[in-house]
Amino acid sequence: MEIKLFINGQFVESSEKIIRTSIDPSNGLEVAKYHVPTAHDIEKAIAAAHCAFINPEWKNMSQENRADILLKISEKIKERSKELIDVEIRDSGSTLRKAKADVHNTASFFKVMSKVARELKLSIPDESASRAGFSLNTREYSPIGVCAQIIPWNFPLVMAGWKLGPILATGCTTVLKSAEETPATAAILAEIIRDCGVPSGVVNIITGGADVGRALINSSLIQKVAFTGSTAVGVEILKTAAANVAKTTMELGGKSANIILNDADLSIAVDGALYAFLYHSGQACDSGTRLLIQDGIYSAFMDKFLKRIKDVKVAPTTDANAGMGPVVSEKQMNTILAFIEKTKAEEGKLLSGGSRITEGDFAKGFFIEPTAFEITPEHTIFHEEIFGPVVGITKFKTIEEAVALANNSKYGLAGAIWTQDKNLGHKIASQLEAGTVWINEYHLLNPGMPFGGFKQSGVGREMGPEGIMSYLEVRHVWESDCNEREKKVWLDAIF
Ligand code: NAD
Repeated sequence: MEIKLFINGQFVESSEKIIRTSIDPSNGLEVAKYHVPTAHDIEKAIAAAHCAFINPEWKNMSQENRADILLKISEKIKERSKELIDVEIRDSGSTLRKAKADVHNTASFFKVMSKVARELKLSIPDESASRAGFSLNTREYSPIGVCAQIIPWNFPLVMAGWKLGPILATGCTTVLKSAEETPATAAILAEIIRDCGVPSGVVNIITGGADVGRALINSSLIQKVAFTGSTAVGVEILKTAAANVAKTTMELGGKSANIILNDADLSIAVDGALYAFLYHSGQACDSGTRLLIQDGIYSAFMDKFLKRIKDVKVAPTTDANAGMGPVVSEKQMNTILAFIEKTKAEEGKLLSGGSRITEGDFAKGFFIEPTAFEITPEHTIFHEEIFGPVVGITKFKTIEEAVALANNSKYGLAGAIWTQDKNLGHKIASQLEAGTVWINEYHLLNPGMPFGGFKQSGVGREMGPEGIMSYLEVRHVWESDCNEREKKVWLDAIF
């Protein structure tokens, strides 16, 4: 597969022919050769997005037309699902089941965005703010403008969908940068977008590393930066965006607490806790990587947990029954292994796993055993995001202690409570400093509801009405309802 730059509706080569390779993390085989844009190519992409934004074809397109395009994209994703699933598996190390879910969810997301676009009200008179004989006040919404969107490697297609859906629903334009580890499915999405009647330049897609990302956001034409990635990079991007007073949406890291109460139903909570930190080899921002277990259920829970962890099938992603595949790259694998070694050195109690898997074919890829440590807040991994299949387990006595432990984090992305007492579950949820809280559930998201983080897990929200509003500027239009000069007494202030 050769991935060119998608600029102004065309697939074009990198102007300096900078071409790199992305590999399958299961076996090191080449998946794609991708073109890396130069500073000049990036400028061209931003200029194309700027021209498309002011082009009446896009600017004046009706919401019905935008909605129709989004629906076509959803259908086309379904039509090309086999190819998308195959490519996502090889490019990102997703298991078959994860890749299927990602493609299905992305098609559904565009369908939801189509409905959102159709129902979007861009002019809303406010009766309570208006006063007869004085003013008629209306809120009018306009697309924010040219956006720069940067996504990570863990859910490449899903992340591209989350970013592009609101662009098309609101009438913005964008240059989206996919992660260099996983450029493939975003490139297929570019073809789909071209084939569904999106005017040239509305969506431009490039790939590359930090330098490409830096050059992209450093333009005064960019009105909004939407970033998903690590908190450290997010902070750097916020500084650059501030210099241009660009609006931002930041979906950053997490260290989410998964709380098991004494009355939890172990027949679901154990599997739920494993799913929370092992899905996609722990490379999900909302992973439940701090498992907090109440003392009364600790032994019973751990007994089942340590048996059940052995049922997670770690396998190359060519195995359709793989429950957990590799991590995305050698670099990421080494980061995870370093955290494991650090926790051993800090005398965290290793309960399961703790090593790279190197037998036979596993040696060709980047596989790590599902790993569990017993830890306290003194351990580094209680606080630092690992982004791998590693959980830290901490025992607590009281609900107050659980809430304090959960909130003892610079992050605030997600969390969960497992209990049969729903009222108690809601009471604890209301005390967690986290953007998403599940009760007896994990990882599931709803496109109609906001997703994002408290504290250093982010700024703003994606999805839900909150996500859409972040791509719109609001304008207050004041129409006078007072048209007799003598009643307009405020004019007398200068006479
Ligand atoms: P990363 O921050 O290193 O990279 C993310 C993206 O930013 C990539 O496309 C990368 O090329 C680009 N980038 C890197 N440095 C840049 C810079 N200086 N300027 C501009 N762009 C730059 O993160 P990652 O390692 O790819 O992904 C893992 C991180 O992403 C984790 O911290 C995870 O929690 C977070 N994440 C968050 C969410 C969420 O919704 N909150 C979702 C997925 C991943």
